Amino acid sequence: MSECIFCKIAAHQIPVKAVYEDEHSIAFADVNPQSPTHLLLIPKQHIANVNAGSAEMLGHLLKKAANLAERELPDGFRLVINTGGDGGQTVHHLHLHILGGRPMTWPPG
Ligand code: 5GP
Ligand code: ZN
Repeated sequence: MSECIFCKIAAHQIPVKAVYEDEHSIAFADVNPQSPTHLLLIPKQHIANVNAGSAEMLGHLLKKAANLAERELPDGFRLVINTGGDGGQTVHHLHLHILGGRPMTWPPG
């Protein structure tokens, strides 16, 4: 069995309160939120990072994230995909961070 934590969440082996779910993806609150609203949107299929995703899948995921963020965060939001060591990726299953509920600063840390 996969040891990937997000595969387990996608398979409902680890319960989360989903804020969105369909056949291909699921969104839930980050366990260590960096903003008042901090959601993660993941594909159910194990894809290690953004470089490994197909254009079609990435396009669908991005559009879903934007729709979800527009619904949850009408005052604005930030979408983040950390990738690799310098990118700060700690879970090696593709995920989009949806951050909002406060003004974001720039540059990011
Ligand atoms: P990364 O650093 O890879 O971009 O983001 C991984 C994110 O997953 C982190 O923000 C971390 O808090 C979150 N995370 C890690 N494990 C879990 C978990 O078991 N449940 C939830 N809800 N979030 C998790
Ligand atoms: Zn996985």
